[in-house]
Amino acid sequence: MWPYHPDLLATPVPRYTSFPTAAEFGPLEPGPFLDAISTATGDVSLYLHIPFCEKICWYCGCNTAAANKAQRLSTYLDALHREIALVAAELPASARVRRIAFGGGSPNALNPVDFIRLFDELVLHFPLEDPVVSIELDPRILTPEWGPVLRSIAATRASLGVQTFSPLLQQAVGRVQPLCMIERGVEILRKAAVTSLNFDLMYGLPGQTRDDLESTLKLAAAFGADRIALFGYAHVPEIIPRQRRIEASDLPGPEERFRMAELGHERLSAAGYVPVGFDHFALPADPLAQAVASGRLHRNFQGFTDDAAPVLLGLGASAISSFPTLLAQSEKNAGRYRMLLSQDRLAVALGKTRSADDRRRGAVIEELLCHGRAKVCRPMIEQAWGRLAPFAEAGLCELEGEYLAIADHALPYARGIAAAFDLYRQHSPRRFSSAI
Ligand code: SF4
Repeated sequence: MWPYHPDLLATPVPRYTSFPTAAEFGPLEPGPFLDAISTATGDVSLYLHIPFCEKICWYCGCNTAAANKAQRLSTYLDALHREIALVAAELPASARVRRIAFGGGSPNALNPVDFIRLFDELVLHFPLEDPVVSIELDPRILTPEWGPVLRSIAATRASLGVQTFSPLLQQAVGRVQPLCMIERGVEILRKAAVTSLNFDLMYGLPGQTRDDLESTLKLAAAFGADRIALFGYAHVPEIIPRQRRIEASDLPGPEERFRMAELGHERLSAAGYVPVGFDHFALPADPLAQAVASGRLHRNFQGFTDDAAPVLLGLGASAISSFPTLLAQSEKNAGRYRMLLSQDRLAVALGKTRSADDRRRGAVIEELLCHGRAKVCRPMIEQAWGRLAPFAEAGLCELEGEYLAIADHALPYARGIAAAFDLYRQHSPRRFSSAI
């Protein structure tokens, strides 16, 4: 059993999909962003954000809105096309795009024809070199015509928002999708030659029991999902107003959430999945599990990844670009994003330069979260020890020569242990999700 230390889980911590985290971002002009692009060389990854969904789920914390106005979608796509041309024009000739990820929101909230046109813009403007293409999809609107669309762009990786198979829980979170919808979606994606299929699942939902979770995990494995991401629902209605529809008194308590995360880890491991970081699981043949086995696992804005590219260009409202020395986020408000691009201006709005110390600390945090151990220099350990000591005393981490190692049974504490190296967290009042 995982040892339960509520005091060591009490402080909300970032998910560390970047370091510094987005909480440290401040106003940023396009100049530093253009300077950073001009240094990009070798492998580059693209992320395109589609901030629209057919129906908004009550639990969702994403930057997305209802796709109910054709005009809004078409002007957003005009802006995205413009941004693609502007950003691609700045990329040095030595850069090659090896990965393209579509996320949101729901990329399949777009009309399939519009989606193909969007992909064509990438082909026209960026130097694509046999890129690995991935896409997030809403099974409720995954119609058969998406099969040929995905095949035509050679998408081999897809992620379906499943969350739970329980009809009652689906009603409790405003996302009703009968089993037959998932069956149909999986069939479409497999026929389209998707070889790495992820299911997003959740624990900590209102009224959810461990039996509910276990049934969902069994079904996900039976569907043959190559990857499973098991996230804890973060209830922060004061920040995400749409969550007010979820009754806080129906939510499982902290210890029950902890036991649900443990159950997920146990059951998925027993079903043959390799644990990847603290909340992902992958079948041994999947590239994510192979990245774990070969020590090539990384963490970026999409979570745990086998993508080692040093540059990620985020396109679309609120998308974040990552360079070795800079993080830059586009305007979050889709209206302002469209307005800036309509004037041929880059929509960069926020960001943070990465100092040498940020990069060293970011590498330690990434190593700890991806591999459970990291080489840490003596001054950094000494500075962090005040916050590490309670974890070490509880047997959750230990020093092994120059390395700090997280114990096998201490996965839920990984983010808390990593946060000891985040100096910004000692001062920042910003709110994050609970550690489990
Ligand atoms: S479909 Fe996904 S992105 Fe859209 S509202 Fe639901 S959870 Fe959020």
